[in-house]
Amino acid sequence: MDYLGRQRSLQNELSKHRLDAFLITHLANIRYLCGFTGSAGVLLVSEDKSIFFSDGRYASQARAEVQAGRIVIQRKPPLLLAAEWLRSRFSRLSVGIEAEHLTVAGQRRLKDCLSSSFRLRLAPPVVEQARMIKDREEIEHIRKAVLLGSKLFTHLLGTIRPGMTELEAAAELESAAYRAGAPAMSFPTIIASGERSSLPHGRASNQAIPQRGFVVCDFGVILDGYCSDMTRTISVGHPTLEARRVYQAVREAQQAATDAVQAGRTVGEIDGVARKSLEKNKLGKYFSHSTGHGVGLEIHEAPHLAAGQKEVLRPGMVITIEPGVYLAGKFGVRIEDMVVVNERGCEVLTSASKDLIAL
Ligand code: ZN
Ligand code: ZN
Repeated sequence: MDYLGRQRSLQNELSKHRLDAFLITHLANIRYLCGFTGSAGVLLVSEDKSIFFSDGRYASQARAEVQAGRIVIQRKPPLLLAAEWLRSRFSRLSVGIEAEHLTVAGQRRLKDCLSSSFRLRLAPPVVEQARMIKDREEIEHIRKAVLLGSKLFTHLLGTIRPGMTELEAAAELESAAYRAGAPAMSFPTIIASGERSSLPHGRASNQAIPQRGFVVCDFGVILDGYCSDMTRTISVGHPTLEARRVYQAVREAQQAATDAVQAGRTVGEIDGVARKSLEKNKLGKYFSHSTGHGVGLEIHEAPHLAAGQKEVLRPGMVITIEPGVYLAGKFGVRIEDMVVVNERGCEVLTSASKDLIAL
C-alpha cells in the first residue's frame, strides 16, 4: 500500500483547511494512512512530517507495520503522548481533530494538556473522502473478500435446514469463514427467517427456521483488513405468489440501480432509481432504508447512497446496492451486491446467483 503517498495527499490538504497539523485518532484512518493494525494509536500529520504514537503493548507491532516518519512509544495513552509531544515542541499551532471520532472526553484531555495558544479545530472528514476511492491493491483485497462471501453462501445453502436455529445456521457460515482464513466477520451475521425476515437488521436468533418462508442472509468477511458484504434471500419450501412477486420486484430494483451506476452520477440518483422501481410495483413505502453504502476498511463508509445525497460516483468507489422490501408481520426480501465503479459503469463483484432459490 502506498502509505507515504496517502500521507503526502493529506499534507497537501492541510493548508486548504488552515491547519498546521492533523491529529488522526480513528483507527481505520490510521491504518489507511500508515498501516498500523493495532487498537491503540494516534497519528500526527503536519506539513513536513508524520509521527505515530502508541503505548508499550504495540512497540514491536508498530515497528513492523507503521510507515511514518517517526514512531514514538511510551507507557501512556497515545493521545496524551501526542499532546505532550506537541506541547514540548511548539508554542502555538492550529491542530485539526476528527470531529466524527474524537470523544468529548478526548477533546477535553487534549485541551487540558495543550496551552490556550493551541487551537483545536474540528476538521472535515478528509481521510474518509480519500478512502472512498480504492486503489488497485485495495480492490484486489476487496475482490478476495467478496469471492469468499459468495463461496460461503454456497456452503450455507448446503447446510441450512428448517428446524435448525438461525444461530446454528450462522455458526455454520461463520465457522466455514474462519476455516477459509478470514480472521473476522464484517459484522454480526444476519439470518432472519419467517416473520423475522421483515426486520431489516434481524440478527440471527434462537428461533428455529420454519418449514416455509423466506430467510434473509446478510453477512460478510474481513480479509487483509477489507470487508465484504452481501445479502441473499432464500425460500424454505415453495414461495407463495405474493412472496414471488415481492422477490421479483426487489430483484428488478436491485438490477435497475446497478445498471444506473456510472461515474458522474450522484449517489442520490442511484437511490432514486431503486426507489422508483419499487414504487412502480407499489412497494416503495416498504423500502425503509437507503440503497447502499461504501465498503472498505470499514463495513459502512462513505459514500452513503440515500435520497438527496450529492456525492458524485467516481471510478474506484466500492459500494453496495441493496434495496429491500419489508412487510411487517409477514416477510422481508433484500438482495445486496458489492460493485466497483469504473469508467463505463460498474463491475459487480458478488458472483452468487440472484435467482430465487427454494430449499
Ligand atoms: Zn449487508
Ligand atoms: Zn450493506
